[in-house]
Amino acid sequence: MTAILIKGKEIREEILAEIKAEVDRIKEEHGVVPGLVTILVGEDPASVSYVTGKIKTANSLGFKEVQVNKPETITEEKLLALVDKYNRDNTVHGVLVQLPLPKHINEKKVINAIDPDKDVDGFHPVNMGRLVIGGSEVKFPPSTPAGIQEMIKRAGVKTEGAEVVVVGRSNIVGKPVAIMMLLQKQEYANATVTVIHTRTKDMASHCKRADILIVAAGVQGLVKPEWIKPGACVIDVGVNRVGTKISKKTGREVAILKGDVDFDAVKEIAGWITPVPGGVGPMTITMLMKNTLNALKYKLGIA
Ligand code: NAP
Repeated sequence: MTAILIKGKEIREEILAEIKAEVDRIKEEHGVVPGLVTILVGEDPASVSYVTGKIKTANSLGFKEVQVNKPETITEEKLLALVDKYNRDNTVHGVLVQLPLPKHINEKKVINAIDPDKDVDGFHPVNMGRLVIGGSEVKFPPSTPAGIQEMIKRAGVKTEGAEVVVVGRSNIVGKPVAIMMLLQKQEYANATVTVIHTRTKDMASHCKRADILIVAAGVQGLVKPEWIKPGACVIDVGVNRVGTKISKKTGREVAILKGDVDFDAVKEIAGWITPVPGGVGPMTITMLMKNTLNALKYKLGIA
């Protein structure tokens, strides 16, 4: 293997330790801790697993965690009323509604109902707008893009003037990460960004130019080894369930996960690479915790 492995799990531990130290200090100086509400609708296994991870992490950091589980049949009106309740609760600094929601609920309406100052997922149009403006306007960068930027930064990969190619243009990964790397005139950004999607002609030629290639398509093995510029930094966001296995640790059946990049071949060409699992995944929850801590800091005027 020639590429340096960017280990999300290790970076996660560093950042969580930094967050915990700040939580303890704020608790001592101001007598408050970050409050996070996670609202889960239904029992989709992937959503349950994500929410469980978020709750576990929040508790380990000393946050006040409120978990609200509602049945799949909850009406949109009742869900909106729940969001409103926590928008008004002064002990809550972050309100998170796990997506996706059941089909009878308008997801946009629910996201737009969250108080932008408690929108720790960063999906509200106000926070997306702040992200586009950049600089000190940015309050809650969406967690996965923020995690990607943090990994690149901590791995020591230069972004200034770099050719960055982002595969995917979703609102939660592709678009915000492209905006963050390109539009922000600051350290760990200042790149020249190309965004690729299903209508792009000749995807290979774009990928081959990339100093930093960020892949978030959700298509296993989409990016081929021959598309990688030698020495490039390859960030694989994709999470594809390709089967199941029995966990040696728990004895339970767990999903086998693969990324969008052909890891075994690409690691011989790239300069840096993230694994799946254990790469971008652990960073997402970590950055959500950071946003929740920041929500409290903004409220206290100490951010
Ligand atoms: P999404 O909403 O489905 O968007 C996928 C994007 O990829 C779309 O913009 C789509 O283009 C593009 N795309 C799909 N197939 C393509 C192809 N063959 N060639 C070029 N572009 C293609 O997905 P998402 O929510 O952004 O998630 C992407 C992947 O990241 C998924 O595997 C997801 O599970 C994973 N993910 C991981 C984390 C984490 O924490 N690790 C967090 C979020 C997402 P069009 O716009 O033209 O359709």
